[in-house]
Amino acid sequence: MTKYYDIVIIGCGVIGSSIAYHLSEQKQKDILVVDKGFPLSGTSGSTQAWVWVHNKTPSWYGELSMYSAELYPFLGKKIGDVEYKRTGGIAPFFNESEREQALKLAEAQAAVGIKVDVLNRDQVLQKEPSLSPSIAGATYSDIDGNVNPFRLVELYIKAAQRNHVQFTFYNPVLDIKKEKGLFKILTKKEETITADKVIVAGGPWTKEIGEMMGVHIPVKQVRGQIIVTEPLAPFLTHTIGGMRQAENGEVLIGYSKEEVGYDRRTTLDVIQETARMAVDYVPALDKANVVRSFSGIRVIPKDGFPIVGTIPGVQNAFIATMHSGITLSPLIGTLMTELLMEGETSIDLGRLSLRRFMKASEKI
Ligand SMILES: Cc1cc2nc3c(=O)[nH]c(=O)nc-3n(C[C@H](O)[C@H](O)[C@H](O)COP(=O)(O)OP(=O)(O)OC[C@H]3O[C@@H](n4cnc5c(N)ncnc54)[C@H](O)[C@@H]3O)c2cc1C
Repeated sequence: MTKYYDIVIIGCGVIGSSIAYHLSEQKQKDILVVDKGFPLSGTSGSTQAWVWVHNKTPSWYGELSMYSAELYPFLGKKIGDVEYKRTGGIAPFFNESEREQALKLAEAQAAVGIKVDVLNRDQVLQKEPSLSPSIAGATYSDIDGNVNPFRLVELYIKAAQRNHVQFTFYNPVLDIKKEKGLFKILTKKEETITADKVIVAGGPWTKEIGEMMGVHIPVKQVRGQIIVTEPLAPFLTHTIGGMRQAENGEVLIGYSKEEVGYDRRTTLDVIQETARMAVDYVPALDKANVVRSFSGIRVIPKDGFPIVGTIPGVQNAFIATMHSGITLSPLIGTLMTELLMEGETSIDLGRLSLRRFMKASEKI
């Protein structure tokens, strides 16, 4: 059976579901979201979920992150309580020599409106008394925080469903062809879906989806392992570079990066290293029990920055893939909606275009 949609979004993580919701607010289009698994089966279900801004560099990238963080309070009002908390963010440094760098960061971020304070040890410990007295200082900003990624994706989907967006799960896209100007999308449930426009939001699998359209999307997969403590009485009030305490008292710790493809196992060496890092930052954690660990696969574009916009050479095909998708999802949903509905965006997406990776001969 062939079904027609105006827009098909491939991938229902935080990026695909955000785009679906924001598009659906326009109430003009028949939209389908296809996922090979369930909504949080990709990276969005295995993340730290900081809404993190202050030390994102270069500054234009920090600025984008700030715009997105500023949308979070409004998002909660529209789709429901996503448990977004603007806790303030602390990025400690352990060596005086890093202070110079921190001051440069603060100056550069100030130029785009991000307020970063460079704190000395006493000021940091006043803010977050559990941090180790061995730290030399920290950069700090009010703008940082975190969100519950499970609530976020669930509420994007529910809001989109209320606006008549359709979803199909456990239904991998196997092939994409273009015939007479329309996309023919073959899925495992043996439906052929016809679509006017396609948005690739496949997270770590974006490359494979690109190949179905004959397009090379230069992303790598980078595993991150997280350890989770037993629920502890609330004692960390800020989001701290490396860890955060969730609403239920668990502390999520980790910032490892390993290029091991799609392997989502956790490994003892990284778990031990992460636990050591945790105790270096917060000595009291040496008494906490670790109750679980998990890993997720980051999708990291070749130069580290998001790929967002049209897919050059394939008319009516679009892409949105990035690390820091939790931070960026409200902004990306907004910008992709502008792009699809109006053909232009309120923020220039030139820097984020897939075109930047293409050889001069491929640019069209
Ligand atoms: C350990 C770790 C910590 C992180 N911490 C943070 C953080 O603190 N803050 C932050 O902002 N970001 C963080 N990130 C990054 C963030 O989680 C990701 O950028 C974000 O989740 C990506 O969302 P996505 O929707 O693009 O991808 P995904 O959530 O992976 O969604 C992609 C979806 O596409 C589907 N799909 C793929 N191929 C197909 C196909 N052929 N057919 C149908 N469906 C398909 C998948 O099933 C999947 O559901 C972290 C990531 C990791 C791993």
